[in-house]
Amino acid sequence: MLQKNVALQPFNTFGLDCSAKYYASIRQVNDLFPILKSPLFQECKDLLILGGGSNILLTRPSFNGFVLHMQTTGIHLIAENNSNVRVAVAAGEVWEDFVAYCVKKGWGGIENLSAIPGTVGAAPIQNIGAYGVEVKDSIAEIHAVELTTGNIKIFHPSECEFGYRQSIFKKLRGRYIVTDVVFELTKHPSLHLSYGAILDELRYMKVNNPSVKEVSEAITHIRKAKLPDYTLLGNAGSFFTNPIVTSSKHQELKLHHPTLVSYPADDNHFKISAGWLIENAGWKGKKLGNVGMYEKQALILVNYGNATAEDVLSLCNRVTKDVENMFGIQLESEVNRY
Ligand code: FAD
Ligand code: NAP
Repeated sequence: MLQKNVALQPFNTFGLDCSAKYYASIRQVNDLFPILKSPLFQECKDLLILGGGSNILLTRPSFNGFVLHMQTTGIHLIAENNSNVRVAVAAGEVWEDFVAYCVKKGWGGIENLSAIPGTVGAAPIQNIGAYGVEVKDSIAEIHAVELTTGNIKIFHPSECEFGYRQSIFKKLRGRYIVTDVVFELTKHPSLHLSYGAILDELRYMKVNNPSVKEVSEAITHIRKAKLPDYTLLGNAGSFFTNPIVTSSKHQELKLHHPTLVSYPADDNHFKISAGWLIENAGWKGKKLGNVGMYEKQALILVNYGNATAEDVLSLCNRVTKDVENMFGIQLESEVNRY
């Protein structure tokens, strides 16, 4: 189970080269406990819990620590009534496969999160979101193991501090490993169709009264047309988060940049489109050596082949600096750095 000096390039969607000193593939939760007790693990300073590697940036050529690769599988219906189902899903299940499974059954809640790469166990870490829906609204429980003690803890959503691409698990990075997520889905879905191009796509598909399957198909079409395929062009999705600013900062920005794309976040804050900021700082479709900001979505930093972490970080710094100089906004990384 435990391997030494393992190449992580196949395990991160950026496609960056990095060698892990220790690597263990976890196929069953019980595989975890002997590892956690081993002196090798306990003495190791660095830890990477790896899912599908679609939201990480490996910043060094070698990772002098331990990689725990969650590859557990299993989907179990644990409760059902006339209106809802509860489904327990192992952390290593592929998120897209789980969405497809629910969509096929007609269960609603996560259809807008179709075609997001990664694993089920990682979904609550940044509270994945897309097309006006966040995964937190379909989660009933998160089962995790505390790595220092081996104790199992069940988190209820109210304890998870879920926010915009945020959760308590980001704060407590490396302390808990998610082993299973319990979802509550509905048999009578209320669909979220008002976001972006969903309605246009459904019209194009000639669908009037869509099912969860048709919504999932529409979103998958939109995404495939707009986002880079990481098997061809390495990337980790949105490189930065959309910044949230105060209403007064928003007012000032709007005065100087009337085309600014922004949305109310709460009574006193606005969410600014980071893609718009990057595009208007001149970076959309621009390359810097082996890397660049994607031509169809400026928020996605892409690897044109053979990029190093240094290439990625240097582009990230250039973009961040230009956005700060032009708009007075500090972009924050969405991708997790190791
Ligand atoms: P990894 O990249 O392997 O890990 C991400 C973080 O979670 C790491 O810090 C890791 O340690 C931690 N982690 C992973 N598994 C566990 C576990 N079992 N227990 C504890 N910690 C764990 N995200 C969105 O929110 N919305 C989108 O629409 C979206 N679109 C994307 C499109 C593309 C093309 C790409 C490449 C990425 C996109 N993402 C999106 C980002 C990414 O897919 C998600 O964040 C996804 O949930 C990451 O899953 P992963 O298994 O690949 O996690
Ligand atoms: P888009 O629809 O072109 O929208 C651009 C930005 O404006 C998005 O970041 C989005 O914020 C915001 N936005 C658009 N319509 C909105 C509305 N009605 N209400 C509130 N905010 C709105 O974005 P896109 O690139 O094609 O992506 C579509 C969806 O997929 C988005 O939800 C995006 O977050 C998600 N996505 C995420 C990643 C990732 O790695 N995190 C990668 C690709 C796509 P939100 O991001 O808050 O939705």
